[in-house]
Amino acid sequence: MVENADIRSCFAAEYVTARQRILDCAEKMNLEVETMNITPKGPHNETLSTDIFWIGPTDASKLILHTSGVHGVEGFPGSAAAVWIMEGIRKKLLKLPEGCAIAFAHIINPWGMAWLRRVNEDNADLNRNFLPPGEAYEGEPENYATLDHLLNPTSMQKGREYYSIRASWHAFKLGFANAKQAVQEGQYTRPKSLQYGGSELAESSRNFVDWCERRLTDVDKIVWIDFHTGLGPFGVDSLLVAEGADETQLKSRYGKRIQPLDPKKGVAYKIRGGIQAGIEARFPDKEWTSITQEFGTIKPIPLLKLARAENRLTQWSGKPPLRLLQSKERREMLEAFSPKSLKWRKMILQRSRAIIADAIGHLSEE
Ligand SMILES: [Zn+2]
Repeated sequence: MVENADIRSCFAAEYVTARQRILDCAEKMNLEVETMNITPKGPHNETLSTDIFWIGPTDASKLILHTSGVHGVEGFPGSAAAVWIMEGIRKKLLKLPEGCAIAFAHIINPWGMAWLRRVNEDNADLNRNFLPPGEAYEGEPENYATLDHLLNPTSMQKGREYYSIRASWHAFKLGFANAKQAVQEGQYTRPKSLQYGGSELAESSRNFVDWCERRLTDVDKIVWIDFHTGLGPFGVDSLLVAEGADETQLKSRYGKRIQPLDPKKGVAYKIRGGIQAGIEARFPDKEWTSITQEFGTIKPIPLLKLARAENRLTQWSGKPPLRLLQSKERREMLEAFSPKSLKWRKMILQRSRAIIADAIGHLSEE
């Protein structure tokens, strides 16, 4: 059972406090921390980092990997989930099988979390930034150009925009699955627009790749849970897996929430430069079970509307960073990706631990 006090102790209001909470938790467990900084600073001029915690034998051959905050602001519930799982291990409610470790990569995009954006300091979505080695940071989805003027206004002048009506109309004309695909796939041509994947591997992405190179040498089997919010029904998690994954077997281990990344079959869509595909491509000899755990918050069109407004303000208002941070748009981003609702937060914590229990079951199999 998740109590209100657990919500208060797991959820933080700022990046610095979230980081402190997981560090405190790690200290209680005597864990070593690997801290990887990035160059840009947070709003209090604080250092921003991805912190990685390892529990279990250092030479484990099986690993549960938990990553959060790939989409910056989603790191608030992601961090809470990590703290809650860690506490579960400390209290022995979750027990790792022999030869198995668990690692928490706390906030892959710390800049985005500190500044309440989904993207990083270069406006890049890090879940579009991990193109496989050798693939150029170029191109955009077929229909992106058609939707660009709608998604990415290039000034703050607001006429009568009828955004919702036009968005619905476009979705209707292209078909909802096609529109969703065009918007979400990732583009490498318009640095100020939505779903930009960057022009190279970002500093924080590189930090994570470097860590994998250092620490995954002894591991051959990995269950990877990448925590996200903003997709699907309120408080419910969809477990997204690559197309072509063994759905039947995954469902037997992780339940009916398993869904392939196919725009026609569920809440999701195909993407380029996703973190899981990008890391798997770099470590093809490992046996990966990669799951994106996506918790629903609000509906896709209002969410897109919000992301559009926030990006517009950031790119075109000329406001300084601290004013942007205090803006209504950034606050709304926080609420959209980390709702204050206690009911929602309880659902998140409960399922975050439950999926780790399933992963433990999976890695306990012979
Ligand atoms: Zn996300």
